[in-house]
Amino acid sequence: MGKPTGFMEADREKLHKRPVEERLKDWKEYVLPEDPAQLKVQAARCMDCGVPFCHQGCPLGNIIPDWNDLVYRDRWQEAIERLHATNNFPEFTGRLCPAPCENSCVLGLDVHKQPVTIKQIEVSIIDQAWAKGWVKAMPPKALTGKKVAVVGSGPAGLACAQQLARVGHKVTVFERADRIGGLLRYGIPEFKMEKRHIDRRMKQMEAEGVEFKVSANIGHNVPIEDLRKNFDAIVLSGGATQARNLPVPGRELKGVHFAMEYLPQSNKVQEGDKVENQIHAKGKHVIVIGGGDTGADCIGTANRQGAKSVTSLEVLPKPPDDRASDNPWPQWARIYRKAGAHEEGGEIIYGVSTKQFLGENGVVKKLQGVKVEWAPQSAGPPKMQEVSGSEFEIPADLVLLAMGFLGPEKNPLFEKLGIELDQRSNVKADVNKMTNVPGVFVAGDMTRGQSLIVWAIAEGRQAAKGVDQWLMGETTLVAP
Ligand SMILES: Cc1cc2nc3c(=O)[nH]c(=O)nc-3n(C[C@H](O)[C@H](O)[C@H](O)COP(=O)(O)OP(=O)(O)OC[C@H]3O[C@@H](n4cnc5c(N)ncnc54)[C@H](O)[C@@H]3O)c2cc1C
Ligand code: SF4
Repeated sequence: MGKPTGFMEADREKLHKRPVEERLKDWKEYVLPEDPAQLKVQAARCMDCGVPFCHQGCPLGNIIPDWNDLVYRDRWQEAIERLHATNNFPEFTGRLCPAPCENSCVLGLDVHKQPVTIKQIEVSIIDQAWAKGWVKAMPPKALTGKKVAVVGSGPAGLACAQQLARVGHKVTVFERADRIGGLLRYGIPEFKMEKRHIDRRMKQMEAEGVEFKVSANIGHNVPIEDLRKNFDAIVLSGGATQARNLPVPGRELKGVHFAMEYLPQSNKVQEGDKVENQIHAKGKHVIVIGGGDTGADCIGTANRQGAKSVTSLEVLPKPPDDRASDNPWPQWARIYRKAGAHEEGGEIIYGVSTKQFLGENGVVKKLQGVKVEWAPQSAGPPKMQEVSGSEFEIPADLVLLAMGFLGPEKNPLFEKLGIELDQRSNVKADVNKMTNVPGVFVAGDMTRGQSLIVWAIAEGRQAAKGVDQWLMGETTLVAP
């Protein structure tokens, strides 16, 4: 333990962010780097608990108290070694993770309510490691002669590929999009994570022997049979990108789009591409339906594009400011959280449902909605009821549907390989992440359903361990 009295001497430091007026003018990350001296104080708050609940709260099993202590002692290079031991890409999670570890931190208990700033310490360790040149490629000492195909280049596929390459397998990552990164690249906007972080990791992975093939849509323009013939194992990590639709009257009107039609175009423009007929918010009344990460990313993007107004509609009631009695520490706290994008303008209306879209000449002009209440039931979840007489109309020139995802997209390769799906139409896997087809593994959202980056990396590491064990009969790889 760094400083036994640290947690009594300092309060939790808030994130430092760029002013809203400034950040709305560009697409750069809005969270500012932390001063290392201040971080030392924050790391000293860690109590090195006998039972570190933070560690249990982290899907990757990050050994958080160790690196808090090393930061306190100014041993940053050892801190990154400890962090990399469990997490391939701390610069992704340090920027994007909702930090279940902080929800579980003992200093987050009701009496303190000031968990250690674990995420901020994490991102500072890795940013400093890159800046100091401590992050090096780790090519294998010898090759095994085995070849592995990874299908999909999101965080699950990337983590899996890196782990497998480092133990000597020849890994090829196939990606149907024109750039590598999955939702890190084309879902999450630049202002949450600049894409240079992915490019830098790709270079490291190439130096470790990973080959990337873009515009390769497996099961479509590249037959799965080719992969079966040419590789010893296959890892499916194609995500869960089947968007939930809103089949109400007027859905077909021009101007009503899935969020994931809108966000990738904006991200492409940030990469320097020209997008014909880009779906754009400039001068428009924008309605975002759905209040999760995807919805917040739409709000931030629309505000930066110069929307006339941005209104976010959420069918659920506003979450409480504090944990409810049935949601105690160290569980994930189901409380109200203000995303960075929510600070930048626009209104969020809770407890409303969309009845229909109204248009003129085939183009959306208005949204008609109604207030809803959630009535408790003796058994099962609360039931949604419309409040009579509460119908309303709001102007709508661009409607973005961000209501979650229903699992992996249908792909003929599932049938060709005879892959079994579970009841939620995700790909079924055993404890080693192998599907029912020997030699075909799965990782990330494709087997969990739409989830988090931290889970995708954890899954990628588990699948890599499973593949290595299956190919070699033993493995030195570690996984959560
Ligand atoms: C807009 C948005 C914002 C989000 N924000 C956050 C956040 O802030 N924090 C967080 O923790 N999580 C966030 N998430 C969730 C997170 O991005 C995902 O859980 C995570 O990316 C899943 O990783 P994955 O590798 O399983 O799949 P993905 O990232 O979805 O990557 C799958 C890749 O596989 C490719 N692919 C699919 N089929 C094929 C095929 N047949 N052949 C070749 N390639 C294929 C896809 O093109 C894609 O690139 C967000 C999700 C969205 C949609
Ligand atoms: S639970 Fe919090 S205080 Fe305890 S070891 Fe983890 S980070 Fe430190």
